[in-house]
Amino acid sequence: MQIATTLVTPPSRLRTAAFIAIGVCLAALLAALALVLAGIAADAARPFSPRVADGLIPEGASVPATEEHLPALARLDADLRQALRDAAEAAAAEGVTLDVTSGWRSAAFQQWLLDNAVETYGNAEVARQFVATPDESRHVTGQSVDIGSLDAQVWLRTHGTTWGLCQVYANEPWHFERAASPGGACPEMLADASATRG
Ligand SMILES: [Zn+2]
Repeated sequence: MQIATTLVTPPSRLRTAAFIAIGVCLAALLAALALVLAGIAADAARPFSPRVADGLIPEGASVPATEEHLPALARLDADLRQALRDAAEAAAAEGVTLDVTSGWRSAAFQQWLLDNAVETYGNAEVARQFVATPDESRHVTGQSVDIGSLDAQVWLRTHGTTWGLCQVYANEPWHFERAASPGGACPEMLADASATRG
């Protein structure tokens, strides 16, 4: 009996221990919450920079037009994707690789490009001749691709109409859209990206 009584902790001490435990848990929870909130605030303060999920293909890099996994290509309009795939196959048979430097882009990515262009040219009007707004860009709708190498650009300008692929801006020899029906004639080129479409 002697042993049993010494082993039993008095109820008041149990209560104290429970309060301490609850206090420690609460403090840990609050600390974790503070860390999460600080992280969210830091994310909001960080300026936007495009990620692969926004359609980014890292600068200087290009991917074969047959690549299917990157969002830049996977999120292209289905007809353009198929036309590009078929054109890439025909080009490959002639020893030319159709390499894509940009395809689908998120609206945030397009806005970021436009902001950068305004900064570069120091003038919104000039910037618009090279970069369309997110509302107008055919990259945001997945309806255009930019081709990297000069060889591939020349090949596509020469043969692209077979799949309805056309250069649409006179000042952008790399930018192609499915602007004609397969085998049809491409529409007359627009001067630049700021021109209104007919
Ligand atoms: Zn383009």
